[in-house]
Amino acid sequence: MKTRITILGSTGSIGVNTLDVVARHRDRFEVVALSASTRVDLMVTQCAQFKPEFAVMASDAHAGALEQRLRAEGLPTRVLRGADALDRIASDPGVDAVMAAIVGAAGLSPCIAAARAGKRLLLANKEALVVGAEFFLEAVRAGGATLLPIDSEHSAVFQSLPDDRQAWDARVDKIILTASGGPFRERAVATLRDVTPEQAVAHPNWVMGRKISVDSATMMNKALEVIEARYLFGLPPSRIEVVIHPQSVIHSMVQYRDGSVVAQLGTPDMRVPIAYGLSWPERIESGASRLDFSRMADMRFESFDSGDHRARYPGLALAWDALAATPGTTAVLNAANEVAVAAFLDRRIRFDQIHAVNVETLARVSGTRPATLEQILALDRQARDCAQSLVQSMGA
Ligand code: NAD
Ligand code: MG
Repeated sequence: MKTRITILGSTGSIGVNTLDVVARHRDRFEVVALSASTRVDLMVTQCAQFKPEFAVMASDAHAGALEQRLRAEGLPTRVLRGADALDRIASDPGVDAVMAAIVGAAGLSPCIAAARAGKRLLLANKEALVVGAEFFLEAVRAGGATLLPIDSEHSAVFQSLPDDRQAWDARVDKIILTASGGPFRERAVATLRDVTPEQAVAHPNWVMGRKISVDSATMMNKALEVIEARYLFGLPPSRIEVVIHPQSVIHSMVQYRDGSVVAQLGTPDMRVPIAYGLSWPERIESGASRLDFSRMADMRFESFDSGDHRARYPGLALAWDALAATPGTTAVLNAANEVAVAAFLDRRIRFDQIHAVNVETLARVSGTRPATLEQILALDRQARDCAQSLVQSMGA
């Protein structure tokens, strides 16, 4: 029996890598549905290659354009539109597995729909967990879904942990997430205010979407990953640590009670964690090149307390601050950061102002513990409004 898959965000970096792995195993996987926001051309190509039953576009205009193109090419894929359609393809009874590869909080609703429907849920969309962890994890429990991490660090931790979840807390001392340090690890801190969007998205080790690339440069990506790790693995934030490892060969580690450290290594290629998520507990070919140990003489590690890294990456500490505050604060942080990164990419604020927007939004938007998903989404909107007005008042 083939595994029937929906890919949310199929035209993005993770989506394209997922289809690359799927294409190597057409005997194991069948694509039921794809989704994208705006890239009609690439969606037509993907529909021609994978013949999905459904393709979802975010807007009417893009859905209309896709429908015309598919008809012209004689392709039978049905085009759906809008956010409700994402929930539908994530929870379709004919689907076994869902790759969640939309960027940002927009991916939360289909993640919850897939979780409630008991799917095998491959989570790349870390923001969904950061925004709605409590409701997301409750949906996973209620639906009996299998949640598998795709983020390379979390896949590495998952691969380094014992199979028996009940043993995690007792046996594990701490989780150590690695961070490459991004493109500005050696740049003078005083010049970070002059960073351009082009410089910020040029990551030294990974080719990724624009938003996560900027997050890697500010280290907000690692802050989101600390929050993601806290919820995926259930250890308290004080037992999650971050170490800079510029080569991105060790993808993360688990330190056990006896002092042993178990790590997962590999070339920096997202097809490895994607293939693991698709095949777990088995292993399948990913297409990634193999590590060449003869060329790995230079494996380096830096602490965040060394040099001026605390000043270079002020956003990292916000993860522990937000986790210690009222539940819902991680959603505020994520919303502020999404607005700030978009404004930076539009050249409306400077690179160093991303952190200023995040800190100020956290100071201004707080409240009581959200009791429902609707209240979380309201908090997300409130934080976005606040961050937008801060962006306007800053003006680059
Ligand atoms: P990307 O920008 O390349 O792709 C995003 C995808 O989501 C696209 O298909 C786009 O059409 C779709 N999308 C965007 N906004 C949408 C909306 N409002 N509604 C519906 N669809 C929308 O991003 P990416 O780099 O592939 O990252 C995707 C997710 O995976 C992010 O959460 C990111 O943090 C995470 N992730 C990515 C990598 C990586 O190597 N790229 C690694 C780890 C985790
Ligand atoms: Mg990562």
